[in-house]
Amino acid sequence: MKLFDLTGRLALVTGSSKGIGLALARGLAEAGAAVVINGRDAAMVEAACAGLRAEGRTAHARPFDVTDADAVRAAVDAIETGIGPIDILVNNAGIQHRAPLEDFPLDAWERLKATNIDSVFFVGQAVARRMIPRRRGKIINIASVQSELARTGIAPYTATKGAVKMLTKGMATDWARHGLQVNAIGPGYFDTELNRALVNDPAFSAWLEKRTPAGRWGKMHELVGAAVFLASDASSFVNGHVLYVDGGITACL
Ligand code: NDP
Repeated sequence: MKLFDLTGRLALVTGSSKGIGLALARGLAEAGAAVVINGRDAAMVEAACAGLRAEGRTAHARPFDVTDADAVRAAVDAIETGIGPIDILVNNAGIQHRAPLEDFPLDAWERLKATNIDSVFFVGQAVARRMIPRRRGKIINIASVQSELARTGIAPYTATKGAVKMLTKGMATDWARHGLQVNAIGPGYFDTELNRALVNDPAFSAWLEKRTPAGRWGKMHELVGAAVFLASDASSFVNGHVLYVDGGITACL
């Protein structure tokens, strides 16, 4: 369908050397976009690009640290001048740290805030400054079910994901008038490196399967439809929305 076609578009997906970011980059590429793959580990970024190219997709490697505002600005400038205008930004890079809140280490608190929320502002602002004069652009922030709901041991992560939801609404409010659409995807529970401890815990899996109306973990390709929708002309009047892809977990107690 033409409405969902991303042919000729360029998408920057942060934190796309593995996990959800790589699945989203692959999905956007399958819908026709050229993709820029990012992460801090240059070898992993290259390997992800090589995999996509072997599948016949167009992928560019751009390793940089999304928590470094200067590095972000330099990378966005280099992409715009060296590859082309960024049509789609997916702010996906994120980390987790699990610890009782009363013992939560300060450095982990700072790292979580820097990676999960500062980065959305840094990369979002750098890319929006390019998109605004063009009067078009799509920004998709990766929120979480933790944008709505807390769970024991991850209060700081929950705070950052709540902030991602509200920054999405703020970005949409400021930038919709310039022709941009800013929205978020709120994934439920997916089997990635970030969730390795949970995936390996049979008690957690049993709890999750009971707690989720769909009765199971999410599969990463199940996030792609939401990303293609929010990246494409199909969502031209959708602004500041959080699309939960969570098997219904945020819909029920
Ligand atoms: P992974 O740990 O599998 O992948 C994280 C990616 O982000 C890697 O490519 C990593 O590469 C990159 N990254 C981390 N820090 C930085 C940084 N400072 N600069 C640039 N890249 C960075 O995580 P997931 O795929 O599970 O998570 C992706 C997003 O989805 C996160 O925002 C997460 O909060 C969110 N999410 C995940 C859920 C899940 O079930 N897995 C559920 C809800 C939300 P490198 O380390 O080399 O930099």
